[in-house]
Amino acid sequence: MKREYPLEKVRNFGIIAHIDAGKTTTSERVLFYTGMSHKIGEVHEGETITDWMEQERERGITITAAAVSCFWTKTTDDPTDQNKKHRFNIIDTPGHIDFTVEVKRSMRVLDGAIVVFDGVSGVEPQSETNWRYAEEAKVPRICFINKLDRTGASFERSYASILDRLSPKAVRMQIPIGEEGEHVGIVDLLSMRGYHFEGKNGEKVLAVDVPEYLKTDAEKYRGELIEKIVEHDDALMHQYLEGKEIPLEELKKTLRKAVIANSIFPVYAGSALKNKGVQLILDAVVDYLPSPVDLPPVKGIDPKTGEEIERKPSDDEPFSALAFKLQTDPFVGQLAFFRVYSGIVEAGSYIYNSTTREKERLGRIVRLQADKREEVKAVFTGEIAAAVGLKDTRTSHTLCDIDHPIILEAIVFPEPVVSLRIEPKTKADQEKMGMALKKLSDEDPTFRVSSNQETFETVISGMGELHLEIIVDRMKREFGVLADVGKPQVAYKETIQGHAEAEHKYIKQSGGRGQYGHVKILIKPLEPLVPGAKIPKNVKRSEHFEFVNNIKGGVIPNEFIPAVEKGIKEAMERGILAGYKAVDISVSLFDGSYHDVDSSEIAFKIAGSQAFQDAAKRAKPVLLEPIMKVEVVTPEKFMGDVNGHLNSKRGHVESIEDRAGNKAILAKVPLSEMFGYTTTLRSMTEGRASSTMEFDHYAVVPSNVAKEIIEARS
Ligand code: GDP
Repeated sequence: MKREYPLEKVRNFGIIAHIDAGKTTTSERVLFYTGMSHKIGEVHEGETITDWMEQERERGITITAAAVSCFWTKTTDDPTDQNKKHRFNIIDTPGHIDFTVEVKRSMRVLDGAIVVFDGVSGVEPQSETNWRYAEEAKVPRICFINKLDRTGASFERSYASILDRLSPKAVRMQIPIGEEGEHVGIVDLLSMRGYHFEGKNGEKVLAVDVPEYLKTDAEKYRGELIEKIVEHDDALMHQYLEGKEIPLEELKKTLRKAVIANSIFPVYAGSALKNKGVQLILDAVVDYLPSPVDLPPVKGIDPKTGEEIERKPSDDEPFSALAFKLQTDPFVGQLAFFRVYSGIVEAGSYIYNSTTREKERLGRIVRLQADKREEVKAVFTGEIAAAVGLKDTRTSHTLCDIDHPIILEAIVFPEPVVSLRIEPKTKADQEKMGMALKKLSDEDPTFRVSSNQETFETVISGMGELHLEIIVDRMKREFGVLADVGKPQVAYKETIQGHAEAEHKYIKQSGGRGQYGHVKILIKPLEPLVPGAKIPKNVKRSEHFEFVNNIKGGVIPNEFIPAVEKGIKEAMERGILAGYKAVDISVSLFDGSYHDVDSSEIAFKIAGSQAFQDAAKRAKPVLLEPIMKVEVVTPEKFMGDVNGHLNSKRGHVESIEDRAGNKAILAKVPLSEMFGYTTTLRSMTEGRASSTMEFDHYAVVPSNVAKEIIEARS
């Protein structure tokens, strides 16, 4: 198998944006200009290509992250020259706050991003969240200030908000020719060329002279840009200081390195809706965003030895890939999107899922293009494609060569913070509901389904009210299941704040064989893991639990120890105070005894579970609640009311900033106080304020509030 184009010519990138900034419109223009889509649909008509789910169309938000592939030849290159063609794999990322986890997930597999901003409002709260995720994942970014045709748009003000609120490493690559109604084109500062976009859909990119009135500004900003670039190369800096003109190609090469190193974020201008500027941004993707070879080798664990190993981005390395998204396709069934980090995989071959430790057959492989699915025979390093019919592969699993296994770092998802009861309307719905919920939770790792053992109710949990609302809606649309839902509830947790020891002897002697299990345990709060510290052999640690085996001299035989651990884990699931799952506890099993005949796994399991319950009650147990980061943007005259209300909701206002003539209030507020907040805010501010909210951390519930919650549950 040979690849059709070199790896250096692949770009895996995402388009990320605050909701309404114009991500859909921009994506659509991209697909049009790359020649895959033959008509430009309007977002409000619901004709865009990435928004193919019916419901997304209605809501106008892209919920799922699909990957779409296309080709691009730079506007300055000969379009018929096959050597100039670049493969783009565009990973779709959602804009709504409840789906930031989807953004986080996609960050793992994209190598670069275009961040879209609304030229009227500049940086918005969601842009900051997305920026932070990109920062954490070290994803190189180029910024696109969109909508410069809108009344009130300002490139300079939006650019200043990027410098101020996101990064001082941002730098202008362009300035617009005209703004608002007069926005007709772009000046590219490096080349000092103007550009107009003509033809029905702006498909003709015409180089023009820089308008006279912009020349002084353009020269000044070009100077700033060059200064920022030469900082990254000593030789260029030298030439610059000597007053020499540096060749354009040299500047671009250095800029490319700096962008890939996350040291510079170039800023572009335009209007996707009015077909201005998009092609130049695609040229920038080629020029400045990394190809898979520009990235360091991917790291993973050898499942046989537990040691860290690497895979270089090369077709010659053993195959390794990460599944990053499951999606049900209306025509071919379930698709598992994966990104290949090394090697090649062929359709029809057997692969190893090192996460599940199962072999799976990779039947068909497809690549999604704007308007069709292309069947592919092989997927090469750096590529993104989707497998049809993988049975046990889930998001975040590693797929690899059977003879050269590796486990890539898994994508970490936050725990759900909201849950609600869901009840099928009829018997027929009941039968379908289980299947529907399973499919939906397979697709979305932040969506969970559980059933209450006592009441037989089904409980679904997710990242926010809207998240669950959409799930219920999809259940109705895609699976035809009608259900009644309860009120949203906070997903509380429990933990301990002190140490306690407990002993439990489980003995039963009623005829026949008896039961005997005897344990002594010490429990204490789980200490955070020190990075790089070695975990001793007798310690088993997972994210929220640690089990330490301190049994000496075989006072409890090894075969029974896992049963003790299991009993403790089950007791933690059942909680201590109010039946919410207990987390972040370290348990040490340090003594006990056994009986030659009567001891059994079940007896030790019960002893472990009882000892835990007893110890936990005395170890200062507390309830934990999710605290949300809330941002409210309001006209100043309502600021007092909004603040006062947040304070009365156990909120803590952390800062107040000026934001384009309004006030932005940043606060931390318990989720339990925030249900229905948008409605309250609307009536408090005559509908003129807006708010966003995302999960921040879990904190101890104050005792007076905890008392009520515990009483209500008992
Ligand atoms: P998304 O939520 O980020 O995907 O944003 P959309 O692409 O759906 O755009 C939101 C709204 O802004 C739609 O009504 C678009 O027509 C409009 N829009 C997008 N880009 C532009 C632009 O460049 N200029 C103007 N005036 N409107 C735009």
